[in-house]
This record gives sequence, C-alpha cells and structure tokens, in this order.
Amino acid sequence: MKIHSDSPLSKIDQLFNNLDQNLSKNQYIRLQFKLNGYKEKKLGQDQVIIETSLIDGQYSQTAILIGKAAELIKVYQNEKFINVNSMVIQLLQWKVAYLEKNKAYTIVIYEFQYIGSLDGEHECTQYNVDQNCQSQKKLRVTIKQHNTTNNNTSHQSYITNSIKKVKIENSSFIKESFIIDDNLLNISVLDNPANNKQSNQFKDYQQQQLIQQQELTKISVMYPNMKKWVLEGRIILKSEQLDFRCKKTDMISRYFKIIILDCEQEIIVGLFYEKALSKFFSVLQQGKVYTFKNGCIGQDKANGTKKITFNEYSIISESQNFAIPSAPQLNFSTLQEIETLQHNSIVDVVAVIQEIKQDSDSCKSFIVFDQTTRLSVKLWGAQYANINLQKGEIMVFKGLKFYNTNFKSLNSDHQTMIIQNHDLNEVKQLKSWLAGKNIDTIMKPNPDNSTIDLQQLDEFVIKLLNEGKTQQTSYKYIFGYIIELQENRNMYPCCPSLRCKSKMEEIPSRKTYRCKKCLTENPSPKFSFVLRVTIMDEFTNIKAVIFDDIAVKLLGITADQLRAMSHEDQRNIFLSKEFQQKKMKVQIQFQDYNGQIQPKYNVQDIVDIDYKELATQAFEMFDELDNLLNLSLVL
Ligand SMILES: [Zn+2]
Repeated sequence: MKIHSDSPLSKIDQLFNNLDQNLSKNQYIRLQFKLNGYKEKKLGQDQVIIETSLIDGQYSQTAILIGKAAELIKVYQNEKFINVNSMVIQLLQWKVAYLEKNKAYTIVIYEFQYIGSLDGEHECTQYNVDQNCQSQKKLRVTIKQHNTTNNNTSHQSYITNSIKKVKIENSSFIKESFIIDDNLLNISVLDNPANNKQSNQFKDYQQQQLIQQQELTKISVMYPNMKKWVLEGRIILKSEQLDFRCKKTDMISRYFKIIILDCEQEIIVGLFYEKALSKFFSVLQQGKVYTFKNGCIGQDKANGTKKITFNEYSIISESQNFAIPSAPQLNFSTLQEIETLQHNSIVDVVAVIQEIKQDSDSCKSFIVFDQTTRLSVKLWGAQYANINLQKGEIMVFKGLKFYNTNFKSLNSDHQTMIIQNHDLNEVKQLKSWLAGKNIDTIMKPNPDNSTIDLQQLDEFVIKLLNEGKTQQTSYKYIFGYIIELQENRNMYPCCPSLRCKSKMEEIPSRKTYRCKKCLTENPSPKFSFVLRVTIMDEFTNIKAVIFDDIAVKLLGITADQLRAMSHEDQRNIFLSKEFQQKKMKVQIQFQDYNGQIQPKYNVQDIVDIDYKELATQAFEMFDELDNLLNLSLVL
C-alpha cells in the first residue's frame, strides 16, 4: 500500500506510546487510521461490537468499535453504503486493552469521526506490540568491542530505547542485558550519526532480504483462497476481450484471460473482469514475465485446474527473470487412453482432423483421430473464430476437457491452448503412421453393422435416394436424444381387430366409434399412441413417429391412462421424458409428399437403458456447454 508522506494516517506504534501507563485507560489523542474489515458481533443481549483492523499503510492492528462508535459505523456501512475498507477515521475516545484470552492487545474505540475515503491495496503486516515497543522493557545492551592490537576490551552500553533496529545474530543474555560481541555481530544499526553509513547499508540489506524473503509461490502449491502468494511467471497466452453474461445483472460484459507459466512449467489461468480488464488489458503482454500478487485463487474440484481472478487491486509488475520457460509441459495421452478417463479430465492431445462438422464463429466442431481411435473435438467461443481448420491437419492441444458422456468429446476450456510446435516427436510419429493411408476411412465405424449417429443416418438416406432405392425398407440403430414429444393429438381410438388397428371415427350422436374398414362399432375402444417426436444428437435432428407399444415403453404409461390425466399431469409426463438419450431401432421408408420423395422414420424399438443416469449426464452436458459459451460465468 502506497500512502504519500502527506497522507493523513498516523503510525500504529503511536497507539502504544507509554503503554505501561496508558494500558486500559481512556485516551483522547486524535490519531487517524484506515479501516480494514467489518465483523458484527453480539455482546450479551443487546450490545453490538464491530471487529475491524486499523491500518497505517505498513502495519495493521486489531480493534473493536463499541457503543456509539459501533452504532455510527453501522450507519456508514448499512445506510450510507460507504465501503468500510476504504474509510479513514479519527479516533476521539479510545483505549488499549489487553485480551488475556488471546494474549494480544486490541484497541477499543468508543468515539470516532469519519474523515474520508482512501483507496489502496492492503499489504500490511500484523503489528507486534512486544517486538515494536522494546523500550517498555528497558533492556541494557552491551556491545563488547575487541581491540586486536592491544588487549583492552572496552565496553559500550546503551539503553535499548536509543536503539532503532538491531539485527542480532550472536548475543548472550545475562541479567537483563544483551551482550553483543562486536566481532561476531553481523550487521547492527545504532541510532547514532556515526553509524549512518552502516544504517544505509542495513536498509539496502533489509530491502534485499525483503525481496528474497518474499518467497515466490509455485503454481503447484497454490490452493483456493490462498493468502499472501507471489507468483512469478510468463504470460504464454493472452486472449482478446471476450463476452460473457454476468449472472447477477444478466448483462453481457467483457473479460480477458491469460495463461501464466511458472518456473516448473505449470500453468494457471488468469481472468480479468470489469475494472481489472480496464486496468490490465493494455498493460500485459504475451511473452513477458511478471510477478503477480493479490488475486483470488480458485480450483476446479473435478480436475484440479487452477485459476486466478484478478481485480483492480491486484499487483502485477514486470520481472526480469528471463529464466522462466516459455513453453508448457505436454503430457500426451492417446485418444483410446482418454476414453477411459473420468468425466472432466484435462488432457493433452496430438491428433489428425478427419471431418469438420461445424465451423461457425461460436463453435468449431470436428472429428480427430490418432493411431488408436476417433473422438470429436469442440472449440467454443469467439476466441477460436479465426482458427482455420483443415482436414488432414495434425493438431496439438494442451488442456482439453474430456466429457465422458454418451457423446464422448474433447472440449475447450479456459486453460486450453493450441500448440504450434510441430517438431514434437508425437507429431512426427503420427505423420509417419499416416503416410499412404486414406484419411477418410481410417477408424471410421462401418455404418452397416453398428449404431450410427444422425448425420451418418442422413448420409445413408441420401445414398439410397441417389441410387433410386426408395422402394426398399431399411433399418438402422441410432443413438439420440428424444426431444419435443408432441403433446396434443398424439393418440387415436383404435379398432379392436388385431389385424386392422385402424383409426375409428367418433359418432357423437350415438356416443360410439366406428371402424370404416371393418364396419364394426365400439362405444369405448382402446386408445393408441401415434407420437411424433424430434430426435437429436450433436450433429443434427430428425422427425420420427413412435407407435403405441414403443410409446408406452417410452412414457411408462398407456394412452388410456394418459387420457384420464389432467392436462398438467400429462404435460409433466412429457417434460420428464424429454432429453433422454436412447438407443433406437429406426425403420426408414420413403414417401412421396406432393411429388417430393422424403424419408419417413418410424421408431420400432427403444433399448431399455438407465434413463435417469443418462438424463443426468445429458443435462450436465448442456450445463457445461452453456458454461463454456461464457453464458453462466458468475462474477
Ligand atoms: Zn378395423
């Protein structure tokens, strides 16, 4: 915290002047401090005390506001909305109290006056009364001065209150005296004009010590909400300003991110929102080394990735430590190894682009493969808009997130980087393995035998159309999410004849139903489902029809049972069945709609799978996608 010499703040040690005489006695000396912290506590039945700290820019000292002072600070905090942490107050009536229980001094404030606000960072150390007020103890210090030419050893004695700051490395303690051997004394500073030069040296030494003592924190040992860390690292990636939706205000706002690499080649993401963005966006440069302080550390519980959210009070200064590496560590896994990993694992990948599925500004989706298998990759958000994807290109990714849902996929996240270094052994190996192979067919599942996705179904249908095979009926197994179950006109009165099962016509005048084909009548025929649905997967969607038995299997209820329910209950049933992922057997036929031949999909079987588990996974995935699109980032 930088406070100028004309700053209105007093020094913390002034509170402890003549401590022996003043302890527990009311003081009226007007001293000014900045406040830090606000904690309301109840004392007894109706007395409120406020715990806070007084700070002078260098030290902080705990304090309690009580009585009138507590009432007043509550007004400032709760009614005038003044940030307590920037308040400067003048003490009017106060005292120093010693808390036996805590073995510590605290300042009890009865009356104060609000002076104004002072912004700045808090880098204060806790004031230690015993260390800083040694004068109270009146120790005698004796410095033995050896004279090497003669054996006269002269002694010089000081009362400790004339000593400003002494670093004592070799001393002995006898009868309330320190005996310091001058020859062994490393550096001592006496408050004596003759020692001014030494004093300055000591200051330099202190400064140096301070820098060395300000131990650098490695990313590997950082933990959430860690205090007092200092990180030195290189910015190996700096994003443009990106959009996100602030959950509090529901407004689109901007942020930018950096990836910091430390001396151990570990990485951490740094995020800058609002004021931090304005302060640091133009200052920070990719490739440079900085020391970072005073940001909030967070960690993803699922995969351990760490991030720092910086604010406008964060301290970032350029560092000259050019020894910090410039490339992150890469620990590649094969795609097959990845498939066995837990949901949300973070992985590094070398793979070839086989198919580009989506290439828009908000999402790039493509299939990659390596020597082991295929997986789909999705890069989310505007930051990837300018990346030019090419079929057959070898990509190197650091920090993709693996979604172990039924659509296994690799997704970009804050820490994801596309690595440009193609001299890597893994790249060379993949390149030589690829030589002479047909990229289009490697690892592709055979669509005739296995479950296919909806895009493959589409390709299959187009192939049939092109070959003019529109008379034949085909069957395919697909995976998909059933969405948009048609809620109205989804059932019909069914002719009881098992061979007919046609729709019966209602004859209201005779309160009965009639089958036009069989010419039979029935006053209460069974109702049968003809449920139109949309089936979607990650690539596309199709419209399909589900007939009675399968619809009963899907909904867990017969058409007659559903009919008997209230509209609201019906709706709840449909809602609860949406977004379930199913394996389905689909019948494909072609129909002529006014001269246009179109495929008609009829779901002939739904394979019983754990609906609940899969629905949860599906929702989880949609949540995450939303998150990745920066729509749900919470400030
Ligand atoms: Zn009939």
